[in-house]
Parts: sequence; C-alpha cells; structure tokens
Amino acid sequence: MISREDISAILSRYDENNLKIATVCSHSALQIFHGARMESFTTIGIATARSRPYYESFPLARPDIFIEVGSYDEILRRDVQEKLRCENAIIIPHGSFVEYIGAENILEHFLVPMFGNRLTLLWEGDRRRQREWLEKAGIPTPRIYSSPSEVDRRVIVKFHGAKGGSRYFTASDRFDLGSKLQKLGYTEGYVIEEYIVGVRYYPHFFLSLLEKPNVSGVDYGRLELLGIDRRLEVIDEMHRGWPDVIEEYMDFTVTGNQPVVLREKLLVDLLEIAARLASTSRKLFYPGLIGPFCIETIYNPKRGFTVFEVSARIVAGTNLYIYGSPYSAFYYDEPMSTGRRMAREIREAIRKNRLESILY
Ligand code: AMP
Repeated sequence: MISREDISAILSRYDENNLKIATVCSHSALQIFHGARMESFTTIGIATARSRPYYESFPLARPDIFIEVGSYDEILRRDVQEKLRCENAIIIPHGSFVEYIGAENILEHFLVPMFGNRLTLLWEGDRRRQREWLEKAGIPTPRIYSSPSEVDRRVIVKFHGAKGGSRYFTASDRFDLGSKLQKLGYTEGYVIEEYIVGVRYYPHFFLSLLEKPNVSGVDYGRLELLGIDRRLEVIDEMHRGWPDVIEEYMDFTVTGNQPVVLREKLLVDLLEIAARLASTSRKLFYPGLIGPFCIETIYNPKRGFTVFEVSARIVAGTNLYIYGSPYSAFYYDEPMSTGRRMAREIREAIRKNRLESILY
C-alpha cells in the first residue's frame, strides 16, 4: 500500500507556491473547481473528449488545465500520474473518482497527494468494516440478518457493489423475502438489512485538523455542519401512481438532491453522532476522518436517528450549496461551499506549514 512517507516524499518535491487542485470531471467537480478558484488556486480537470467541452462551457467553474484521458481508469497510467505530479497537483477524491478508479487501485497504485486520509477508503468502501466503525462508535444502525430465515420484520436487500440504490428491493417478512430471492434467482452477493421507517436526512460535515476543537467528543479538530440534503429517489414519487401501487416505483435509485433543514433540537443528536464517528475513526484509522464526510440517516420519532451509511468524502448533495447553506452561514459570513472549504483548508495548511497533515 502507498504509505504516508511515499506521499510526503512527493510533497517535498512540490512547489508550495504553485499547488493546483485537480479532480475528475464528474460528480461534484464543478463545485470543487469553483471553490478552488475562489481561493485563488489553479485547477486541473481530468476529462474525456466527450466531457471536456461541457466542462469548458462554465466560465466560473471550468478547470484552467485539462488532462484528457480515453477512459477514467487511464488515470492510473504512469504518464498521467507523472503529469499530475509535475503540475504539483492535489487530488480531491469524490464519489465518481473512487468508483472509476477503485479504492484498491487508489490505495496501491495512485501516487499523487490526495486531500484527506486515504485510509478512510478501506473503512468506508467495505460494508463490514463500515458497520464495525459505526458499532464501535455506539451509533444506532439497521439490524443486519445473516440469513433469510432469521428475518423477523420488513427488510431491504442491497447488493454488493450496487451504486446509489439501484436494484435494492424490500420484503415485508421472511416468506416474502424467500419468494422474491427465488424469483430473482439470487443466492449470494447481497445484504439483508432491517427497513427503517422515517424521514431521511443526509448531513454534510467538515472536520478541520487545523482549527481548535469546538464540540465535545472530538478532540482533534473543528467539526462543521456545512449543509443537509435529502436524496431524490424514484420511490419518492410513488404517490403519483395512486390509487394503484405501481411496481416500477419501488426503486431506490438516487436521481438528485433536495435541500432540507432539520428541526433545530434534533441538530444536537446529529452533531453527537458525527462527533462519535470522528473520534472513533481516529482510533481505527489514525489520523481519522479529515475534511468532508456525510452521514446517511433516517429519523424516526420513536427511535431517533439510525445511520445506514457513511460517505467519507465530498457527496453530491453538497452541490446544492455553492454559495453556502442555512448552516454554513453560522460558521462563515461569506459564501462557503464544501468545495471552497477544502480549498480554504489547503490554503490554511500552506500558511501554517501543515500541508502533510491534511494530505495522504
Ligand atoms: P444507499 O445505497 O445505502 O445510500 O441507499 C439508497 C437508498 O435506499 C437510501 O437513500 C434509502 O432511501 C434506502 N435505504 C437504504 N437503507 C435503508 C434502510 N435500512 N431502511 C430504509 N431505507 C433504506
């Protein structure tokens, strides 16, 4: 695995006065480039011939430099990595970046400094490890059933490697589950999870190693809540089929995001969960969570928050808040997107001579 020392060695050859922010042209790249420009960084977009003209068409968010690839896995090619290092590039990893290149390839073969802690990829990308992290943090999670015969309530079935809710399905009890699995011909490669009834909230956090701790439970940096969204999934439109229940609407595929604010007294619960997650991450994969992360939650008035997933990087829901959110306004009296916040952190780290602590 690429070590922290390998990345430090590369950083020691970088020109700190000429660092550039780079990412793949997808997911939340426009926000990342826009935010980096606001902090006076030169930006690099890794694009395909098809995506490039579209990314060129946004005057305030287009990257200054393009590195064109035939397909995104070419990022691992020696010459592409060399080009990035020659440009003093710092990569901002986002969901598509990790998906296109693969967590394992990033850990083993991607020798370019990345914002945040690369080790989070190990813990976030593996459902079992992620569960261990949440449980160690004492955070309520949906129950997992190791076999269909154990099922004692409504469940949701998720497939390994399925992205953004696609192909998930629900079953009302173990008999329903058994017949659905049989009909679909599935015998393995899935997780059976308790179905949680409630309202979904996806809060976006940022953990700054460079600032003083501000919430109890996190002693290694400042925890900021930069926004909250709700994902728009096909199933959310179910009511449009009424009075019939149209099967096709039973689809959890994420198609977009909507801004939300939370009833204020519930913010305390959410911040407590984020603090526990961060402090546990520090013990499991030092130095722990750094930079942006999102907790995927369902709030049920009787049970409180249940966390069903963690994304330890910028999430697409932050794209709603290019000029800040109803929460970022309580930390910054200037527009502050998550993209800009990361660029600000890099700027601050250069100023404080602490770049190595936030890049790996
Ligand atoms: P995920 O791929 O884990 O982000 O899940 C995609 C969507 O499936 C979520 O946004 C929820 O709508 C739904 N979902 C996932 N897990 C659960 C659960 N345990 N209970 C209810 N809905 C869930």
